[in-house]
Amino acid sequence: MNTYSELDVEGYERVVRCDNDVVGFTAWAAIHDTTLGPALGGCRLWNYTDEQEAFTDVLRLSRGMTYKNALAGLALGGGKSVIRGDPQTIDRRALFENFGRFVDHLGGIYITAEDVNVTLADMEVVAGQTAYVATVGASGNPSPFTAFGVYCALQAAAAQVFGSEDLTGLKVAIQGVGETGGRLAELLVGAGCKIAVADINEDNINRLRHKIEFERIEAEGIIDADCDVFSPCALGGILNAETIPRLRCRIVAGSANNQLLHEQDGEELLRRNILYIPDFAANAGGVINISCEIGQAYDPQKAREKTAAIGNCIRRIIDISTRDKLPTNRVAIALAEEVVAASKGGNSPKTSSTTR
Ligand code: NAD
Repeated sequence: MNTYSELDVEGYERVVRCDNDVVGFTAWAAIHDTTLGPALGGCRLWNYTDEQEAFTDVLRLSRGMTYKNALAGLALGGGKSVIRGDPQTIDRRALFENFGRFVDHLGGIYITAEDVNVTLADMEVVAGQTAYVATVGASGNPSPFTAFGVYCALQAAAAQVFGSEDLTGLKVAIQGVGETGGRLAELLVGAGCKIAVADINEDNINRLRHKIEFERIEAEGIIDADCDVFSPCALGGILNAETIPRLRCRIVAGSANNQLLHEQDGEELLRRNILYIPDFAANAGGVINISCEIGQAYDPQKAREKTAAIGNCIRRIIDISTRDKLPTNRVAIALAEEVVAASKGGNSPKTSSTTR
């Protein structure tokens, strides 16, 4: 049986905790902002060391979804859910049945989907309990679109740094070759890049070996790889005071959410003349694809075209960042906040100077 508690968190519309002692999990749903529409964001299952870690994660991920959906021009707000539980041992069917009831309890302000450690099959179980679930319809797995969006973002970044969108010959070091990183690696090899990869999951390394050639780097060494592009496609917080001085790349662009441990880490990347492509701008392809099945007949071609427009968004962020000498993450947040403010019918004085 689920037990729900409403939590009062400044800056968030609604944050709800769900405890289930029978199945043995705690979940949180954070609805950051629904100005643009119902909050759409995936559900992450992770064996968080403690509750605070899970809670911090859901808040950061949820806010990022507001920015992502706003920058992508979607009529969707930002929200996210996380489940604290052991993916290896938990009874998945019971877990996702109860998680589905939790989502239903929220009454439609939050629409869920997959994220790390949560599969389409899990979402089908969720769909047995609630209508507020995306990705079980025609649009299918969002990951190929996420990977394609990162690829388009990378082309825009390469044009700025190397003078051409042509990626031929660039060396890209990818951290994590799961659903998104693996697909990105294939796209990049197809474009003539040299790839170095690190992953802690041997199955994912071996799966990729059957498809493309790459250099394998040990997980701890990927940050130090001598490359043109570092592509974080695993978990968040990878760009921080300890790792940024070790980077030997000109561009950082990947699928992982919350790559910067702190927002001020963007300033250090700018100071080191490393072009950081804000994660929530680059990795919107999956959510763009999902949005193409909400309230309309799904058309994969349209989803691909809308995903390709991520390149335009990245060019705009880079232009403003270059002009105003501001970190790209700050510019992207300002642009997203302007979209939300405009929808509310107000202006955001804090951000207007960045978009003149
Ligand atoms: P995934 O679980 O399929 O892949 C992640 C990979 O990273 C796994 O192979 C895992 O073994 C590896 N990994 C974990 N820790 C590592 C480490 N320390 N070093 C090296 N490898 C490590 O997940 P995914 O769907 O590819 O998502 C990756 C990231 O992209 C996540 O942050 C996710 O939130 C984000 N994201 C995914 C999508 C999507 O459509 N799947 C959309 C937007 C954002």
